[in-house]
Amino acid sequence: MPPKYRFSMTDDEPFELISGGGPGPGGRLLFLCDHASRALPDAFGDLGLERTLFATHIACDIGAAEVTRALAERFEAPAILARWSRLLVDLNRGEDDPTLVMKLSDGSIIPGNRGADVAGRIARFHRPYHARIDEMLDAMGGVPVLVSMHSFTPSWKGRARPWEVGVLWDRDGRLARPLMRRLGEAGFTVGDNEPYSGELENDTLYRHGTMRGLPHVLIEIRQDLIADAAAARAFAARLAPILELALEDMGTPALTFTRPLGAPAMPTIDEKTRESLEAAAFRRLVAHLRGRTDVQNIDLMNLAGFCRNCLGDWYREAAAEKGIALDKDQAREIVYGMPPAEWKARYQTGPTQKIHK
Ligand SMILES: [Zn+2]
Repeated sequence: MPPKYRFSMTDDEPFELISGGGPGPGGRLLFLCDHASRALPDAFGDLGLERTLFATHIACDIGAAEVTRALAERFEAPAILARWSRLLVDLNRGEDDPTLVMKLSDGSIIPGNRGADVAGRIARFHRPYHARIDEMLDAMGGVPVLVSMHSFTPSWKGRARPWEVGVLWDRDGRLARPLMRRLGEAGFTVGDNEPYSGELENDTLYRHGTMRGLPHVLIEIRQDLIADAAAARAFAARLAPILELALEDMGTPALTFTRPLGAPAMPTIDEKTRESLEAAAFRRLVAHLRGRTDVQNIDLMNLAGFCRNCLGDWYREAAAEKGIALDKDQAREIVYGMPPAEWKARYQTGPTQKIHK
């Protein structure tokens, strides 16, 4: 059984949490919905806005919360949704972003945001939301995959938006690329970084995806397709198998840091050179392990979840893929520099518990 991610929710918490952690295929997925809610805490009244505006897209991403909940249920995956409207504080912005607390949205002035206590709103609503995302990712362990759900208006400034679904991404296309392909195959009109660009520094996915090296994607759904709860659930039911296929296409993810902040660009390295550099690093690792006979395999296993024997096994598996048959001891000898039994007799100390089959 995978772990259950249980967190309490109190009245003060600025998010809704779905704990997930079921046995479903979503064991490594975390759904996010930054613009899930049109609600405001009582103390903020209606921010001086006309009540009718709260039914519109300026208060929340219409339908996005319902789609998020339905996807979380379907994948038995955890989800974190904003509890309050983006009009209070936009959770998909960095703390220093000038649009964090909007004074004007789609032509409407927001009186209650003039002279707002921005620092206070960050402390009460923005930081706890992002802190909980961090806690959840830590609790999930491994390499979680972030899927952030949003929705967009069918037209903007008098221009119709043709896309049914937009896939927003920055440099990490691990999930975005297969998802766009699978959506296209399923007959959707897909926007590649439309209607917005996914390159927004310090937004939610930059912070929790790019900076942590986790695969991530932002999905924008056109609001007329998810205008009520039933339509949103139906859409989620169409989207789920497509997302599942895209996740399969992506394969088992590893941490990949695509844009270290402020770092100079990586030099271009051709594949042959890259392989020889990787081989050099491997040889050095093996030489290092041969020199450090004081380091026990059991300690390596306890600390890092791998040991010399694992390295030998990985070598054997890589060889098998090239059609070269090595048995376990032969492969391990390449790591040890001697038959494993001999190394064991010479250097193994402490408990002789069996850590490998
Ligand atoms: Zn949004």
